[in-house]
Amino acid sequence: MQNDIALFSELCDSLFDAETNQPVAKPIPTSELYQQLDLSLNNDGIIDEDLKILLKDIIKSTPKTASKSFFNQLFGGRIGKAALGDLLAVMFNNSMYTYKVAGPHVGIEKQVIHNVCELAGYSKDSDGTFAPGGSMSNMMALIMARDSKNESVRAEGLSQSMTLYTSKESHYSISKNAALTGIGRNQVRLVDTNDKGEMIADHLDQLIKKDLIDGHIPFFVNATAGTTVLGAFDNNEAISKVCKKNNLWLHVDGAYCGGVIFSKKHNHLIKGLEHSDSFSVNAHKMLGTPLSCSIIVTQHKAQLHHSFSNEADYLYQTDGDDFNLGKTSLQCGRRNDALKIWTLWKSVGTNGLEKIVNKQFEMAQIARDYINNHKDYTLYSFEDSISVCFNYKNISANKLCTHLYKNSELMVGYGNFNNVEFIRMVTINSLIEKQDVFRFFDTLEASAEAIC
Ligand SMILES: *Cc1c(COP(=O)(O)O)cnc(C)c1O
Repeated sequence: MQNDIALFSELCDSLFDAETNQPVAKPIPTSELYQQLDLSLNNDGIIDEDLKILLKDIIKSTPKTASKSFFNQLFGGRIGKAALGDLLAVMFNNSMYTYKVAGPHVGIEKQVIHNVCELAGYSKDSDGTFAPGGSMSNMMALIMARDSKNESVRAEGLSQSMTLYTSKESHYSISKNAALTGIGRNQVRLVDTNDKGEMIADHLDQLIKKDLIDGHIPFFVNATAGTTVLGAFDNNEAISKVCKKNNLWLHVDGAYCGGVIFSKKHNHLIKGLEHSDSFSVNAHKMLGTPLSCSIIVTQHKAQLHHSFSNEADYLYQTDGDDFNLGKTSLQCGRRNDALKIWTLWKSVGTNGLEKIVNKQFEMAQIARDYINNHKDYTLYSFEDSISVCFNYKNISANKLCTHLYKNSELMVGYGNFNNVEFIRMVTINSLIEKQDVFRFFDTLEASAEAIC
């Protein structure tokens, strides 16, 4: 193993060099992938020296999500202390289901959950867990809401049509989860949004009324803190009133921007979170930990236990439910996703996490200022968002993004709202500086000249 650690260190150096010298890897066309890289698996292995050469080739052509040219998705960058925590988790290789097997890591996970609950303004009765991603966090919320509305579903399955509500701009996992949980995609009601992409609470109220008249059982509302395209925040206060009135579970999907709970400057965006029943946040998005690190918390500890526990004599043999985290998780064997966020948090403190979040908003403002000061640009996104959506000179967003990628210039994607397609630049890498933002626009403009 010692040799492999030395090799790992050498490979990391190659990766760091590549990130600096070729921040956007030259993409290999899919049709040539297996010719350009020997990915074949054979009866006989290869010698270490050849393996090293091959791994270095793979490093070269791997998309560099930690580079300062990556603005493509809702994650990016690399924060040393978080990566350190995750590397240690690989070395420990604990499974988080029991205290017997995970030891102090159970305490670490519980501490992170506890502090997230506090920042969310949740009551003493709250608890949570780590799910394999934001989509699965949303599914756990949906399951708790379903069981809380009708306890017998767990044993008997669905016997009546249950309806749920989420905005048109919300993440696709809501509909997918409705299918996975037996609720059904057709029971998902898409609530209209205003011109900023925020859910209209009055429309939500109308949809619920109609479903009640039609004999459905409304049970779940999903509000979003940071919609996937525009980065919009739904109004939790207004939505929670509608939920209380109708006795519906309110989940706040903060996969993208729930990280604002760490920022005294920006946590007003998620005002009213304390009125929700559950809340999820992906630390691998705003907080910059490696994938995946998704936290779900709920004010109803008993419901979490009720919906996810199973007795298993062969597993739970010591230490009681509170320290046997398998009693409240989606999986059985479960990797340690808590250590990376704990290591980062311990190292920089809550104030350091606030700086990470604030920096993203500052960089987004710099990008918006640039766009507003240059007449060839049209801006589509709004203040208080780290998704900067724009078009340049009527050039197709799709065409420009693809050109930038194929020519190894920038990684950036496109999205649409109200049938307008635009480039979506995401300033989620907290290590990006002002000059990186300007370089982004310089590169994009030069590329635009080339395709005009
Ligand atoms: C990214 C995202 C998700 C899904 O999270 P994964 O970890 O990718 O499964 C859910 N909701 C929103 C709003 C997101 O941005």
